[in-house]
Amino acid sequence: MRTRFAPSPTGDLHLGGAWTALASWVVARRADGRSALRFEDLDTARCVRGARERLEDDLRWLGLDWDGAAVTQSERGSLYEEALAKLAGLGLVYPCDCSRAEVARAASAPHEGEEAVYGGLCRDRDPARPMKRPPALRVRVPDQVVAFDDDVAGPFAQNLARDVGDFVLRRGDGAYAYQLSVVVDDAAMGITHVVRGADLVSSTPRQIWLAQTLGFAAPRFAHVPLVVACDGARLEKRTRGATVRELRDAGVASTAVIGVLAHGLGLRPTAAPAAASDVAQATAGAPIVWRQTAWPIPRSW
Ligand code: GLU
Repeated sequence: MRTRFAPSPTGDLHLGGAWTALASWVVARRADGRSALRFEDLDTARCVRGARERLEDDLRWLGLDWDGAAVTQSERGSLYEEALAKLAGLGLVYPCDCSRAEVARAASAPHEGEEAVYGGLCRDRDPARPMKRPPALRVRVPDQVVAFDDDVAGPFAQNLARDVGDFVLRRGDGAYAYQLSVVVDDAAMGITHVVRGADLVSSTPRQIWLAQTLGFAAPRFAHVPLVVACDGARLEKRTRGATVRELRDAGVASTAVIGVLAHGLGLRPTAAPAAASDVAQATAGAPIVWRQTAWPIPRSW
């Protein structure tokens, strides 16, 4: 059993991050498994200097440790290049010079409706036509249904051609896309169970297909419900009281934070203070009954 927490170092650890960090850590630790930390920093424009150290510090404060050195995606370009070459060798990759806006966000994980299905304009382009800009590289997806059984939400299926479309593997500026890097890294790090937020469930069929196409065993997936503000609105980074650091600075104990998050996730019957290690021990041996709906952060701590 190996899980990972894969934050982007774009700011302080918010409660949504702590929520998935706790979930993935518990899934590993309750089974004496390993838990890894990976920084997804390929979208350099969104990364913040010093965020990585602060994230590590907040995770330690919460008692969520990790095995081995943290992995940093910006240091792993050769692995992504190798995977891209393999896909190109299978005739699945083509250049696309469609507008920047359409491909800009490809290096970040797509959250909540940030993605549109690509219409395939460059799929059969005349190779003699000059490129309007440095092209992104897309993968040609088959007209195929990919289905999986999510450990939280149950069965989920998508038709790759209809619901996903040919997606970006590398942006025109050379940044590898989230969809490629996540698959390569989960395989290279031996991740057996991906535990992450429900907004990434629609990325999963393409990741399973990419893993299979690259000859990797796809992991199992558990998509935990999203964290929302106390009034049910989308949790923005600016929402007050939404980062672990703010709670820390206000004098809230780490056991109070873990207790509340663990109860919210469905890992504990009450929200009483608890250490992360207690949560892992108390859930060992029996199947987890995960929360199924969005979780509003408490109004006060
Ligand atoms: N780095 C991604 C994020 O910030 C997580 C991707 C994943 O867990 O697959 O949401």
